Amino acid sequence: MIAHRFKYSCPRSAEEAAAELAQMEGEETAIISGGTWVVPEMSHHLRRPKLVIDLKLAGLAGVSAEADAVVIGPATTYTQLAHSKHTPNFLKKVVAGITGGSQIRNRGTIGGSACYANPASDIPGALVTMKASLHLRAHSSTRIVEAADFFLDANVTLLEPDEILESISIPSTNDENLFSYAKFKTAQGSWPIVTIGCIASEDGVARRVIVGGAGAIPFAVDLDGQESEDEVLQRVHAAMRQPWSDVFATADTRRHIAGVMTQRAVREIAAAKNGEKS
Ligand SMILES: Cc1cc2nc3c(=O)[nH]c(=O)nc-3n(C[C@H](O)[C@H](O)[C@H](O)COP(=O)(O)OP(=O)(O)OC[C@H]3O[C@@H](n4cnc5c(N)ncnc54)[C@H](O)[C@@H]3O)c2cc1C
Repeated sequence: MIAHRFKYSCPRSAEEAAAELAQMEGEETAIISGGTWVVPEMSHHLRRPKLVIDLKLAGLAGVSAEADAVVIGPATTYTQLAHSKHTPNFLKKVVAGITGGSQIRNRGTIGGSACYANPASDIPGALVTMKASLHLRAHSSTRIVEAADFFLDANVTLLEPDEILESISIPSTNDENLFSYAKFKTAQGSWPIVTIGCIASEDGVARRVIVGGAGAIPFAVDLDGQESEDEVLQRVHAAMRQPWSDVFATADTRRHIAGVMTQRAVREIAAAKNGEKS
């Protein structure tokens, strides 16, 4: 039960939402997209906002194709992403693996996941993999930031308190690439210990590996396509400067798993390119 009083508003646009945020002048406010994080936090008294801004009528859901990018509204649910013909193939693969059943798939949104920046979630790593741009809006300004710069730490992003995420742009060139995405979990419903996204050029050569779930933020290793498989693994291991150690896996285990998964990803893409079954 949510046991404190708060004002509730349902703005009709991103501009209206940003104007309402600006009026709060630092008072605690909660933006609700799908509410799958915010509402439980309010029920457990972890957040006591004075104002709740619900984005459900702000026109921020949907996927559209523009000249050189796919534009996704932050309030787009996983189910909507799965069914849109414009959703990039890599993102469709990521969304297909999201757990939590129909409640999470029908309520959870891409923008809510991006803004919450849970290190174990799939979306932060997916946005970095696809070189997405995030469009942020405050009352009297807008700015665009790259996904790789947006995630600062576990549950910390570049978003200022008076900003909302208004849209996400993903370069259309993503669908020209071959890719692989996998997560290593200890149980079907648990959070992943490591996720690996791998993007390859049309000739099946790996050009980018993104490691998620192993530390506070996802990170990318860009390749020039000349590296041997061993060199790719060395680059990934070298980039994993501070993998997490917790009850699920030590840092060494995470490093090892990331290496094995990277190797599998590179081989899976090469096999797919050659028409082999993996
Ligand atoms: C049982 C379960 C299983 C799950 N499994 C997975 C999984 O397999 N993979 C995975 O990646 N995730 C998983 N999740 C997490 C899920 O993806 C997130 O709960 C969901 O995407 C969050 O979206 P939301 O719209 O509900 O966020 P909300 O709760 O609405 O918002 C989350 C945060 O973002 C802020 N926010 C939301 N929208 C905006 C905006 N436009 N601008 C600024 N701030 C905003 C809110 O204020 C809040 O702080 C799971 C969750 C549960 C409960």
